[in-house]
Amino acid sequence: MSDGLSGDDDTQRLIEATRRLASEAARLYGPRTDIAERHYWLETMVNHIPDYIYAKDLQGRFLLANEATVRDNGFSEMHEIVGLTDFDLHAEDIAARIADGERQVIASGEAIIGLEERAAVDKGNERWLMTSKVPLRDKLGRTIGTVGVSRDITDRKRAEQLMIGQTRVLEMIAKDTPLDDLFRELILMIEAHVPGVQGAVYMLTEDGQRLMKGVAPGLDPSYTAAIEGFPIGPNSGSCGTAAYLGQPVFVGDILTDPLWAAYLDVVQPFGFRACWAAPLLSFHGKVLGTFALYAKTPGLPADPVSDLIAMAARLAAIAIERREAAERIHFMAHHDALTGLPNRSMLDGHMEKAMTAARETGEWVALAFLDLDNFKLVNDSLGHNAGDELLRTVAQRMSLCVRKGDMIIRVGGDEFIILLTGLQADRELVLSRFEGIRSAIARPMTLAGQTLQVTCSMGVVCYPEQGESTGELLANADAAMYRAKAFGRNNLKLFSSEMADAARAKLVQVEALRQALEQGEFVLHYQPQLDLASGCVFAAEALVRWNHPRHGLISPADFVPLAEETGLIVDIGEWVLDAACRQNRAWQDAGLPSLIVSVNVSARQFAEKAWVSRVARTLADTGLDPQFLELELTESLIMQDVPQAIATMHELEALGVRLAIDDFGTGYSSLSALKRFPVSRLKIDRSFVKDIPGDEDDMAITAAIISLAQKLKLDVIAEGVETQEQLDFLRESGCNEIQGYWVSRPLPPLAFVSQFAPGLALEAMSA
Ligand code: C2E
Ligand code: MG
Ligand code: MG
Repeated sequence: MSDGLSGDDDTQRLIEATRRLASEAARLYGPRTDIAERHYWLETMVNHIPDYIYAKDLQGRFLLANEATVRDNGFSEMHEIVGLTDFDLHAEDIAARIADGERQVIASGEAIIGLEERAAVDKGNERWLMTSKVPLRDKLGRTIGTVGVSRDITDRKRAEQLMIGQTRVLEMIAKDTPLDDLFRELILMIEAHVPGVQGAVYMLTEDGQRLMKGVAPGLDPSYTAAIEGFPIGPNSGSCGTAAYLGQPVFVGDILTDPLWAAYLDVVQPFGFRACWAAPLLSFHGKVLGTFALYAKTPGLPADPVSDLIAMAARLAAIAIERREAAERIHFMAHHDALTGLPNRSMLDGHMEKAMTAARETGEWVALAFLDLDNFKLVNDSLGHNAGDELLRTVAQRMSLCVRKGDMIIRVGGDEFIILLTGLQADRELVLSRFEGIRSAIARPMTLAGQTLQVTCSMGVVCYPEQGESTGELLANADAAMYRAKAFGRNNLKLFSSEMADAARAKLVQVEALRQALEQGEFVLHYQPQLDLASGCVFAAEALVRWNHPRHGLISPADFVPLAEETGLIVDIGEWVLDAACRQNRAWQDAGLPSLIVSVNVSARQFAEKAWVSRVARTLADTGLDPQFLELELTESLIMQDVPQAIATMHELEALGVRLAIDDFGTGYSSLSALKRFPVSRLKIDRSFVKDIPGDEDDMAITAAIISLAQKLKLDVIAEGVETQEQLDFLRESGCNEIQGYWVSRPLPPLAFVSQFAPGLALEAMSA
């Protein structure tokens, strides 16, 4: 008696009643009782038990039944039920199932224990029973019927079903079921447990001021429609007030409650009298919506019902919160955090749709690659915040220039893709749209207190004219943008087939370069650097050449730019560094006076994370002492990201290698920044030396660089010295080191050694 409906209280009551009876019997009849007395005592006890106890004959006719059985089957005296079968009491299917079970007990002689079954005992309301049946035997042991005990477990069964329903709703939440379906399921579950109510879920509008998107499967749709946009406030019916207060609001009589006074017109035609609402609260207590039950009879919910309302509100809140989180994640995955624009992942789907539509209408789709000019410069000189602000402003200006169905995508950094749809098939018109965007971007803007103008380069392609697939269109737009940049930036270029040819040719060249590296076709030539005071060659610059099997030696000017652009320079540079260090070590091993070898470093290499450790490894592998390696960094390389460059330079300095700035004077390094670079040498660019002594300006610049280097206590070397006049001028200006044809052209290793280290065994000196 401890489980199920009766619970501990009932058990306790029963025990007490039995004790009372027993003591009563003892008082009346003394310690010894005869059979009649015992019979009375037993019958009284059986009738006090709230479970159903009964005996039936072999045909299922009631022989005996306790009071609970009699009463709950609608009778008042036991004799009324005796002789009846379950077919007289229950629906056909239920009675047949009971009879089946009893036949089984009779046939097998074995008991059925604890069978859970549905029975309609209580005025048509569904009830559940847990039943045990045993064979009823006579004195000779023959089965003459059955004895049954059934306990009402309806409440436990309801709780179980509620839990199953709750689990189902949670599963739906986990499976991302659309909210409407989920709310419907939730409401139906609650309605099944609370007779005579209809449930509804409302969400809040974005501004949190009104109810919207009601889901109410059992309510008249015109009521839900009337509630759409219902305001939230301190006197706003049940739901509007619950959402306003963030607390449950149970109205027992709509007709008299002041909360509903202003809305009687709305609610009266539908006949609702009670409305019990609870807010849907997020984990952090924010109101997300409301859950409500409507009833047509006035009254307040019993405790179990208000518990149900609280549970439903929690489930609905969890569902909404999870949906919002999923939407946020989805948005973040497909949008750029800085500008809020879609990212690259959105392009393909959108492009497919636009192309399909274009095929149907005969209109065009146009796609442009856009790259801001000199964005890095803004970032470096005005700071990252200004750079971010610039990108946001540009994104906003572009967005104002496009229409519904168009799309602007931030690809990364300062690169964007613009997709225009539904265009008239006319190149001039297409270009004028993009020109409009370009001039919108170029309007002056103020950043960090400074007014500036941002220009951009754009490459444009039109579908279906200039490509069939997104991939092809993108490649062509890229080629067109590359051309626009090459044309001097601040430019817009429409793709042409000649650009495609150039792009294809470039691909072929890149492949050839890759193979050249694999097949060891690169060689290094060395150009001496001369110290004017001592007349000694103290260093050699390693300069790469491609020894092409058919075309012979190819100058780096013809392939380094392409290798830079495609990133292949990283691999080539690694080879150069290794070969130059190995060569220098071989010369030292052969007994040559120690030389410094200078190696050119590309920006791509320098930006590689693992680069410093790669340099260290190369030194270790080749056994070259770090002091005999100098790395030539260009000014523009350093200026791409000054703080990062300085950090990397310090790491290299810590390795013990020397650093020089190549092509000095051609970049924009500010003097204040120069002071912070841990470099030991400046290389005056050849362009300044070239026109000495003809060009006064170049001479002034050269002299200025020399004195700057002296003031900063840096070595300075002049590149490209070809003539005696240049040499004389440089010497007079205080420059003590030179490199150039006047000393020697770059030479293959053997020639270099034979010319600058005569008298040594030549074969030993080539690595
Ligand atoms: P750079 O580092 O400024 O190298 C100096 C260039 O000037 C070399 O051209 C050299 O041959 C040339 N030169 C030297 N003296 C004179 C002279 O008196 N008159 C004239 N007209 N030219 C002179 P090269 O070897 O063609 O290299 C060109 C550029 O290619 C180099 O400029 C460097 O930027 C790049 N480069 C060469 N080798 C490598 C390398 O291994 N890695 C990287 N990343 N770049 C390299
Ligand atoms: Mg150089
Ligand atoms: Mg140079």
